[in-house]
Amino acid sequence: MKAADAVSSPPSESGTWSDWPQDTRGEFLVGGQPLSQVVDAAGGTPCYLYDRQRLTDRVRRLRGALSPAVRIHYAIKANPMPALVCHMARLVDGLDVASSGELRVALDSGMAPEHISFAGPGKGEHELKQAHAAGILVNVESFRDVRLLAALSRATGRPARVAIRANLPFSLRASGMKMTGGAQQFGVDAEQVPELVAEIQRAGLTLEGFHLFAGSQNLRADAIIEAQARSCELALEWTEKLKVPLRSLNLGGGFGIPHTPSDKPLEVGPVLEHLNTLAGRVRAERPETEVVIELGRYLVGEAGLYVCRVLDRKLSREQVFLVTDGGMHQHLAASGNFGQVIRKNYPVAVNGAPTEAEVASVVGPLCTPLDLLADKARLGAAKEGDLVVVFQSGAYGRTASPRDFLGHPEPREALV
Ligand SMILES: *Cc1c(COP(=O)(O)O)cnc(C)c1O
Repeated sequence: MKAADAVSSPPSESGTWSDWPQDTRGEFLVGGQPLSQVVDAAGGTPCYLYDRQRLTDRVRRLRGALSPAVRIHYAIKANPMPALVCHMARLVDGLDVASSGELRVALDSGMAPEHISFAGPGKGEHELKQAHAAGILVNVESFRDVRLLAALSRATGRPARVAIRANLPFSLRASGMKMTGGAQQFGVDAEQVPELVAEIQRAGLTLEGFHLFAGSQNLRADAIIEAQARSCELALEWTEKLKVPLRSLNLGGGFGIPHTPSDKPLEVGPVLEHLNTLAGRVRAERPETEVVIELGRYLVGEAGLYVCRVLDRKLSREQVFLVTDGGMHQHLAASGNFGQVIRKNYPVAVNGAPTEAEVASVVGPLCTPLDLLADKARLGAAKEGDLVVVFQSGAYGRTASPRDFLGHPEPREALV
């Protein structure tokens, strides 16, 4: 009998790391199969593994709680692995990209261009040309974006599709990374929106709406709700005052996931209920409007594991160090160096070991003390050759890491 038949993992309620299924020998299960086997099938360690079923469950749960007036987009930069993006493209309503390379992946996924959008400051001329040719929606973030798209539209006789990304007059509370409020490189300041609208109209571009993204990695439902309510209000006000269409009202991403055992998970229920209310209100005034949320981390972060192997078990002045073949060069965020203010351990575990038998630090092979995956964590006792798992690693993992640092081989990746 295959392991996949032996263990039926019940659909998880929370979908977070603490309920990751294990078999009777304590091996974690990925795609219903024991981790050691999945790692071998992926070609060995170090590797990132993504669980299809978890990805699917996460989107389905959101979908089940949201009214059809709210569209779910996936922001590819959280995890641009082509196979994963293809999987997501079948589940979500649209994709958001932030570069030429991501646009290529999005188009290859089979997602229709009308449901792909492109955001980011400093879009290259070649990127705008590519976006315009593909017929996707460009979130313009400056007068320069409009000027270049106007030239492309004139040259081809096809008006570019644009939405305005605005830097809001307020900032998001309790956000890991703020993307709006005060001075920002993102979007145009709210005060400049009327002038930008006029410029877009003069250039004959097709204005489809607004893009208002307050900030990333937020675990506070009340803060997200407040930002979305104010963003929505502002967009409706602009639409009314400036007499522009509102086919798309994109409220951005930013739903957080717990990255350390002490983080309190986001209570997503109230956020979704509030989105339904917002969308209902917007639709009552403007039946043509789609309210869009554009999530990265929340959709994929909890479906991914980073797995490395213990090369050496060292005892230094009574402290245990598990020296592994993975490290900060492949998983910068777990080392605490991806925008974190205070370093805290990601949830980690030893595969197939009883939990919490000893205190150990998990480090990598790099010649720097920054190469720390877990600092004095409570782990099952590990020996050479054991697999160490870093949970919550499906987003901002491989591609958000300085993989060339020290010249080790690339981590493998598999969608299971
Ligand atoms: C990064 C990004 C997102 C996704 O952010 P998460 O915090 O991962 O949800 C969404 N939209 C834009 C424009 C982004 O740059």
